[in-house]
Amino acid sequence: MPRVLLHLCCGPCSITVVRDLRAEGFEVTGLFYNPNIHPLREYLRRREAAQQAAERMDLPVIFKDADYDPVLWLRAVAHREANRCFHCYHLRLEYARAIAANGNFDYFSTTLLYSRHQRHDTIRDLGRDVAGPDAASDMGPLAGDGPDAASGAPAPDAAAPPKKKARRAPGFLYRDFRSGWAEGIETSKAWGLYRQQYCACLLSEFERYQGELKRLS
Ligand code: SF4
Repeated sequence: MPRVLLHLCCGPCSITVVRDLRAEGFEVTGLFYNPNIHPLREYLRRREAAQQAAERMDLPVIFKDADYDPVLWLRAVAHREANRCFHCYHLRLEYARAIAANGNFDYFSTTLLYSRHQRHDTIRDLGRDVAGPDAASDMGPLAGDGPDAASGAPAPDAAAPPKKKARRAPGFLYRDFRSGWAEGIETSKAWGLYRQQYCACLLSEFERYQGELKRLS
């Protein structure tokens, strides 16, 4: 069964994504790494919701709390505020890829692909770039697995010792999970999960609530 490390942005976004990946036959492990969530108490609320969702789904999750470093995020987007989401995605996808490689996962992916509010195509392209050209294909069975019937290569010598298969770099598993949007919202409400009102960073919080400032002037 192919193993996928799934970056979790929050609990509600994980529900239908985990279900759909399991339905495809993947063994799913979550990864909670989000230094873009500000402030810290908001991070803790979303972490708790991710944990509650994971318990409901019996999903193992790697929580990287020691690597929650908002300075890292600030440096990644500094002077690039207009295109900050690209660099924010890159920071988290590159981290997920590294953890997936260390853990011998076949794939990595992200629940950001579930959101209707994120730049879906940018995340897809970036994930594939981060994975690199030598990564496993995200379109079907793992490349290099099983006999290559089309190659016409001679059958291996049964007496020869088995060769150890070179492990491929983890591929970026792209799927469009947005069709589960409404169902994910309904289920997260039924489960009583915390649902955030802004994307995550302090700039997105400002954009969400700046109307309150404007009303004062
Ligand atoms: S708006 Fe969201 S995706 Fe964009 S930089 Fe902020 S936290 Fe990251």
